[in-house]
Amino acid sequence: MNSIAIDGPAGAGKSTIAKLLARELGMIYVDTGAMYRAMAVHFLRRGLSADDAAGIAAACETAQVEIRYEDGAQQVYLNGENVTGLLRTEAVGNMASASSVYAPVRARMVALQQDLAAKTPVVMDGRDIGTVVLPDARLKIYLTASVEERARRRANELREKGQEADLAQIMHDIEERDRRDMNRPIGPLKQAADAVLVDSSHMTIAQVIDTIREQYEQRAGN
Ligand code: C5P
Repeated sequence: MNSIAIDGPAGAGKSTIAKLLARELGMIYVDTGAMYRAMAVHFLRRGLSADDAAGIAAACETAQVEIRYEDGAQQVYLNGENVTGLLRTEAVGNMASASSVYAPVRARMVALQQDLAAKTPVVMDGRDIGTVVLPDARLKIYLTASVEERARRRANELREKGQEADLAQIMHDIEERDRRDMNRPIGPLKQAADAVLVDSSHMTIAQVIDTIREQYEQRAGN
């Protein structure tokens, strides 16, 4: 399949890169983290705690997550409501990370993501895209950066939106999220054997895009 899978830890720049790359290549961008975040909104609204496995499994049954594209941008719907604007807070991110360890949550999300990619070539970013969701992707990228750099980027992102950002707290949350994402039994974050490692700590966005596009074109030519 002609799709591109981009995996990596929180704050590595996956969504920025994947979005620009999709536009350049005329492909659809799929942000899978936003889907886990929509599920997290559902759990938070029900007052569930992240360690309530049974409650989360039951709440999964009443969550209908849907992806639509409006003016080329991904919109995430939860039970018919557009929740896109609610997804990028630290509280939702932390709940998404904690609840994404559960099998029923992952099974729902993986099936939805595979359906999307079956329709059209996508640039899809997440944690388990190259390893679980799209094992036959034409190109797999493992995009990472140092913890310090990722925390700095996340803080800037929050400040640009007028939200408060405590760098030390963000760094702590990122490390915690990395640890959970890398150590869960189902769909852990890891570099696929056939993924290309890109460390963006000292690269500009344009350099990362060029690197990935070159890799994709090499494979397309084969
Ligand atoms: O990438 P983003 O920070 O939006 O993802 C939120 C959380 O969703 C991550 O911390 C991760 O635990 C989870 N996630 C996942 N698998 C994916 C994408 C995101 O487990 N494919």
